[in-house]
Amino acid sequence: MPRFVTHFQRMQPTLARIRDARQKTENRKLRALCTIDELTELPNRRQFNPELARLVAAHQRYGHVFSVAIIDIDHFKGVNDTLGHLTGDRVLKQLAKQLAEILRKSTRKNDLVARWGGEEFALILDATDLANARIPLERIRQIVEKSDFGIGRQVTISIGFASPSNFESSEQLMDRADRALYRAKAEGRNCIRAAEAA
Ligand code: GH3
Ligand code: MG
Ligand code: MG
Repeated sequence: MPRFVTHFQRMQPTLARIRDARQKTENRKLRALCTIDELTELPNRRQFNPELARLVAAHQRYGHVFSVAIIDIDHFKGVNDTLGHLTGDRVLKQLAKQLAEILRKSTRKNDLVARWGGEEFALILDATDLANARIPLERIRQIVEKSDFGIGRQVTISIGFASPSNFESSEQLMDRADRALYRAKAEGRNCIRAAEAA
């Protein structure tokens, strides 16, 4: 018995290391689960927000340039109401895949697309000012407009986008993008609108 206790005691540091390693793996899995949107498998706000905060800080410190965009599907309620929620889900998944694919091909490694909520997606276009953001965003709008979602009707999106100005918080920046999106909706949908200056 005393020998067993000694042996057991000697094993303690090893067992603790194994427990630590297991805990770390579990934590990593949990973190991944709670920063990924279940339906679209895109990052969610929990992943988007820290990345945005990092870029806003870099903007404030070094004048680092980037843009954000909010993408919202036009008349999505109509898709759900006439074709059903499951079809709506399929459209969301396909659009998410398309957006991820477009960004995967982008050369800027900090570009990010996230599910912002409901049928809205948020983008970070790194190293891209407001004028240059127009180009990829207009391309995204056109790709979606021409895509076949297999639902027997066209799917279109509206986009609002903004670039940070000094001392603006992440929330204020996203709010300006959101107001630009609202304008895109009001001015006919299936279009992109830049935010007004902060
Ligand atoms: P608008 O052009 O003004 O954006 O019109 P809209 O119909 O898209 O309006 P709104 O943004 O108010 O409606 C969004 C709809 O998206 C409402 C909700 O039923 C639907 N929606 C949100 N999340 C999901 C989801 O996870 N799955 C499905 N199928 N529908 C969703
Ligand atoms: Mg919406
Ligand atoms: Mg909508």
